[in-house]
Amino acid sequence: MKAVPDFWFEPAPWVDGKWRRGTEEISVPNPATNASLASVSRADAGLVAQAIEGAEKAWTDWRSRSPIERGVILKRTAALMIAKREDLAVLLSAEQGKPYAQGLGEVDYAASFFQWFGEEARRSYGRIAAHPEAEREFFVEHKAIGVAGLITPWNFPLAQGAKKIAAALAAGCTAVWKPAERTPLIALAMAPILEEAGLPQGVLQIVPGRGAVVGKIFAEHPAVRVLSLTGSTATGSALMADAARQIKRVSLELGGNAPFIVLPDADIEFTAEHVLRLKLFVSGQVCVTANRVFVHESIEREFLDILSQKLERAVVGNGLSDHVDAGPLIHRQACQDVDALVSQALTAGARLVCRNASFERDPSLKEGSFYPLTLLSDVQDSMHIASHEIFGPVIPVLRYKTVVEAIQRANETPYGLAGYVYGQDMTSCRAVARELEVGIVGVNEWRPLKAEIPFGGIKQSGIGAEGGEEGMREFLCTQVISMPKPTWER
Ligand code: NAD
Repeated sequence: MKAVPDFWFEPAPWVDGKWRRGTEEISVPNPATNASLASVSRADAGLVAQAIEGAEKAWTDWRSRSPIERGVILKRTAALMIAKREDLAVLLSAEQGKPYAQGLGEVDYAASFFQWFGEEARRSYGRIAAHPEAEREFFVEHKAIGVAGLITPWNFPLAQGAKKIAAALAAGCTAVWKPAERTPLIALAMAPILEEAGLPQGVLQIVPGRGAVVGKIFAEHPAVRVLSLTGSTATGSALMADAARQIKRVSLELGGNAPFIVLPDADIEFTAEHVLRLKLFVSGQVCVTANRVFVHESIEREFLDILSQKLERAVVGNGLSDHVDAGPLIHRQACQDVDALVSQALTAGARLVCRNASFERDPSLKEGSFYPLTLLSDVQDSMHIASHEIFGPVIPVLRYKTVVEAIQRANETPYGLAGYVYGQDMTSCRAVARELEVGIVGVNEWRPLKAEIPFGGIKQSGIGAEGGEEGMREFLCTQVISMPKPTWER
């Protein structure tokens, strides 16, 4: 069992390079045991405003530094995170619940965004092109937009922050980061790391607090020029409405309902293994997880047999214990929500193929918020489990007869975040992938997200992208200077 390290940070807001106190304290539990990890001070409205104003002040200096200098600080941050990866992973696992190995993966993934945007900082290109009038010229420059308000969820509490912070800071913006209510510790743990990397005071402020309260302040304070949220579609819609009053830019990474299409020629063993890994990842509490697994009728029986054998072998338990494949859900309410979807599906005719409640063997977990790994077949499109984001370790299998039918059903959702296609003929896989109305498709790949790859949703899954060269654009605005062309008297 891994032990939680002594904190190298304070469980309190980080504003202008100092630890502050808000007026409210909140206990942060380990979801595997419900034991409190720390009592965290939340930023009140006054402190959030102070953080925004401090970030505005720091912007003058930060945006005027050379992009190479900004990049050096970001790359140093990446290196310091890697040097501290075990401690960060334990903290992540304790606070979020994911297995330690997944925590290590998240630290590496988060650091890769600091590395990538540290390199991208110097690649913000403008242009000079021919002006229609011979004696004039114009310059197009992409400049930092201003203070960014960043709001992140609890499922990847480090990586979701890293994606936004690294891109915003590389672009020359300063930022105020509000982590999720359930996972403020891993965010605050970044403050000393950024400071050691050389980040000037006020360039990143960290304000734990309530979403609706901090979101409103971000939307109302005139210094905040862009709001970047990763969260549910309902929260994205509320934030967009708040941002509309001052016509603020929004960048939204929202919910999904990913189809996972298993073509008739798929390698069944390989595909079953990947579906399971995808659902074990953060116990299915992932926006891009497979929410509907469409399996061709000719291979369904074999697929279910192999998948259920694998599912039964998995270990669900405390993420800090060795050899655990999946951890708890984030809280008890999440278990109840998932259970309501499963019960509705069973009542409506779905079949329970198998479930794995191995966490029940460990008495120390009886207060934890665990849900069994569950495999369902005979799931219909009309069931709630197929139309709602499950956010739990449940695999719903939907049978199809023709690939055309599978594609059509896959697209019958207001979401458009991720999709997966598994098969052996690459021409068919690519053709199916192109038909899916989603922002990213993994072909024979369960985790296609990387710092180098732009990722964003379409339809109600979001606006904009993170990662790739596109990620920095969310924090840049375009300015044109049109002027007389200087001429040389001969
Ligand atoms: P959530 O929307 O409840 O909360 C996300 C963040 O928004 C939290 O920090 C919360 O405090 C804040 N918030 C809540 N109400 C707000 C408001 N009115 N104004 C401003 N901020 C507000 O989501 P969650 O439960 O933390 O995370 C799960 C959701 O996030 C799922 O829907 C999931 O699909 C989505 N998600 C999307 C991506 C992506 O990249 N598209 C990645 C991870 C999670």
